[in-house]
Amino acid sequence: MKLNRGEIICLGIESTAHTFGVSLVDSRGRILSDEKKVYAPPVGKGIHPRESAQHHSQASPLVVREALRKAGKTPEELSAVAFSQGPGLGPCLRTGATVARALAAYLDVPLVPVHHAVGHIELAALKTGASDPLTVLVSGGHTTVTSFAGGRWRVFGETEDITLGNLLDVFGREARLPSPSGPAVEAKASEGKKLVDLPLVVKGNNVSYSGLLTAAVRRLKKGGDKLEDLCYSLQETAFTALAEAAERALAFLEKKELLLTGGVAANKRLQTMLKQVAEEHKAKFYVVPREYSGDCGAQIAWTGLLAHLQGVKVSIERSLVKPRWRLDSVPIPWRR
Ligand code: AMP
Ligand code: MG
Repeated sequence: MKLNRGEIICLGIESTAHTFGVSLVDSRGRILSDEKKVYAPPVGKGIHPRESAQHHSQASPLVVREALRKAGKTPEELSAVAFSQGPGLGPCLRTGATVARALAAYLDVPLVPVHHAVGHIELAALKTGASDPLTVLVSGGHTTVTSFAGGRWRVFGETEDITLGNLLDVFGREARLPSPSGPAVEAKASEGKKLVDLPLVVKGNNVSYSGLLTAAVRRLKKGGDKLEDLCYSLQETAFTALAEAAERALAFLEKKELLLTGGVAANKRLQTMLKQVAEEHKAKFYVVPREYSGDCGAQIAWTGLLAHLQGVKVSIERSLVKPRWRLDSVPIPWRR
């Protein structure tokens, strides 16, 4: 069945939360296509897992077809099919996994499981050229300071409760800003001037954001503060906590690179703060390009290709999704 003429091409499917994304990449690191459709919850509401999964299931035929068409490839030219096995929302993960299993079985190519966070890191490394960075991964699902050692991405700091993306999204929802609210909070914050006193919590190398969220929402509801000042203060407090945690890890590990990735990496103020941290420690600062900061098929396709080249695959019977899969439990055979 295979028409593959020596070219290795991996199709990757992302479906952990609101995004259904499909991408094709080749072994030279070229992203041949990166298509997506994103589920938008009703105003004022968060992601409803079953409705998001329904969205993915309806979007999947079109997104797969478009990804193949834009890449100029036929299904028979694929060498492997990768999917985000976790972590994420169970119904959404299962929808993506079902599409991936069907494609891999029909085409008789390996099915490659990918950890979503590893995808954010590897795509950022590909796009920036960072080779051995201390990585700050900030998104809807992760707030993690991580570095590669002994075959895995080891966690040197993380959130003890909610993620940074979640903090911004929930606060934004309470303030009736469009969802996901990170960009709107950033826009308001850029017009804020007054620093409102909010709790900054760093515990060792970890951060904690739930007390900050409660305090910020309480002030919002009480009234009397400008929304711009609240957004500014929320960002300053949350980002300072993260920059502190990252700085400790950087000083301890003496890494020469600091890489920022994940959806929240698009935030200019966060970029500035972490760049300063990097410069103080004589490390080079890298940030994932904005178009690849949020969830996308390319993070899964590229990581899937790296894994495929090392023979990583899973049988259909063992390809159950892992909604709570931890980053530091994933073997990374392609990094030495
Ligand atoms: P991901 O889970 O990687 O798709 O990232 C989504 C998260 O990134 C959501 O929580 C968004 O609110 C957040 N986000 C996107 N753009 C920005 C931005 N400019 N500033 C802060 N957060 C952002
Ligand atoms: Mg993500």
